[in-house]
Amino acid sequence: MDAESKWLKGREKHYLKHQDNCPICNSENLDSVGQMQHDRTGMSQYIICEDCGAEWLDQYRLHGVIIGSYPTDRVPRDLEDSNPNEAFKR
Ligand SMILES: [Zn+2]
Repeated sequence: MDAESKWLKGREKHYLKHQDNCPICNSENLDSVGQMQHDRTGMSQYIICEDCGAEWLDQYRLHGVIIGSYPTDRVPRDLEDSNPNEAFKR
């Protein structure tokens, strides 16, 4: 990896913790470009810095789940068994 690529990787890493600032010039004058794109595992959105003109793709990936509602008759008798295929075997 050349020096510039290394620097860009560093800026990308920094941006993950400071998403309100352009990864190149640190400006807060950011705008989204076009529609949020969706696929099975995530979403992405192009962002542009209105000050320096840098563009990048924000990538969102599913990182957690919270079950909101469920049929109680599907709760296995043995709650220790987290494998539904095993839990429902008779
Ligand atoms: Zn910028």
